[in-house]
Amino acid sequence: MSVEKPYSFFESVEKSFDKAARFTKWDIGVLEQIKACNSVYRMRFPIKRDDGTIEVMEAYRVQHSQHKSPCKGGIRFSEEVNQDEVMALAALMTYKCAIVNVPFGGAKGGIKINPRKYSAYELEKITRRYTSELVKKNFIGPGIDVPAPDYGTGEREMAWIVDTYQSLKPGEIDGAGCVTGKPITQGGVRGRKEATGLGVFFGIREVCNMQEVMDKLGLTPGVEGKTVVVQGLGNVGYHTAKFFREHGAIVIGLAEYEGAIYNPAGLHEEEVFQHRNTTGSILNFPGAANLAINTDALELECDILIPAALENVINGDNAQRVKAKIIGEAANGPCTPEADEIFIQRGILCVPDMYLNAGGVTVSYFEWLKNLSHVRYGRMEKRFSENMNARILAQMEELSGNTVAEKERLLIMHGAEEVDLVHSGLEETMINATREIMHIWLSSPEIPDMRTAAYVSAINKVATSYAELGIFP
Ligand code: NAD
Repeated sequence: MSVEKPYSFFESVEKSFDKAARFTKWDIGVLEQIKACNSVYRMRFPIKRDDGTIEVMEAYRVQHSQHKSPCKGGIRFSEEVNQDEVMALAALMTYKCAIVNVPFGGAKGGIKINPRKYSAYELEKITRRYTSELVKKNFIGPGIDVPAPDYGTGEREMAWIVDTYQSLKPGEIDGAGCVTGKPITQGGVRGRKEATGLGVFFGIREVCNMQEVMDKLGLTPGVEGKTVVVQGLGNVGYHTAKFFREHGAIVIGLAEYEGAIYNPAGLHEEEVFQHRNTTGSILNFPGAANLAINTDALELECDILIPAALENVINGDNAQRVKAKIIGEAANGPCTPEADEIFIQRGILCVPDMYLNAGGVTVSYFEWLKNLSHVRYGRMEKRFSENMNARILAQMEELSGNTVAEKERLLIMHGAEEVDLVHSGLEETMINATREIMHIWLSSPEIPDMRTAAYVSAINKVATSYAELGIFP
């Protein structure tokens, strides 16, 4: 990994913003307001550990923007948490939500702990105390600020948060919407787990369907037959690989931290996942060749490269050797600004993380809507659609004298379940966001890359929203 960070994380977000702001028409004061972090809440609170000692926790919640309410952003448990990082991640949430038309301001939270060093009971106390600190300062609520999982947190922590919130705010009818990423039984939504990987797939598929873009890259339109390499077989990488394979792409390379494997005939992510579970390593998968170093996978000849593991893996050192035509940033920050410059020169298309991995927050938005409406998606219309479809089918069969095959019959008659509607909403969101960003990029020759175009899209939307509120003339 190269050392290329002369400025802080928040400053680097500001730099990317400034680079894009030059391509917008907004007054400097408007841009300064959009960039600023509106509220930074730094808290300290004690918890008693299982061995009786008292430890003081350092925790944050940052609300970057209230141009839309509520604010939204994950809570991470990590030893790396600091104010600058939380501010940067909150700012990125504002831009990400704006790009995918999720009507939230950006926020982020963090507690400076390594969750592996704490018992489940200690983590529960920390999470509940953090939540009550947020309640005390009015920093959480379905109309104020809605956290979600991030590094080191998951459904379990979200269930503790909603429970704490609801016990401190009895009778608040929409209380379940104070946090997303909850277990289904606690008001969560189906389709959340695969949302980011599916969103990555939808975004790249839309790019691949654009004739003009494919012509420039020397590729044929469509996903079918495209060769794909995925780094990281975790939640995002696994699902991205799965959806590409299911839609006819060939996943020729997979990388994990212990190594990488290659098979030009294609790899099946679930089989590789099971092999890794059994043997403890991705290596020596039947029919595949081992690659000497895991980062070698990033340099394989392929159409689409999906870094889905961690940040800064494609940088000034190795970007020159990347052979993919399209890079889909599934992870957060996998390509450094130096790599971006090299890709611009080499005509490689980098589809930016800021919108490509927005599937999670998009489906969180659907969960929040579900919580406010107090009804499972599909409950009202599923049976109605099925009955109507059955009638139409029966009429068609009667008129044509033909009988529809059983498999087709089931497909036609199927009424939408919650997961179908969530996937459909996500597909619509990713297609629209891709088209909007591409339109900005392709209609302004001076905009150097898709990342800058994504920022331009975000800035325009946030600024317009302020203007419509009458905050700016
Ligand atoms: P995860 O922990 O489930 O998966 C990450 C995988 O990467 C793990 O299997 C890990 O072993 C592997 N890995 C670690 N170091 C590696 C290396 N050097 N080379 C190859 N593989 C390596 O995490 P995730 O939820 O899949 O998130 C992956 C990335 O996507 C992160 O950058 C995260 O911030 C981003 N992201 C995730 C979501 C989400 O909904 N989960 C949403 C947006 C962005």
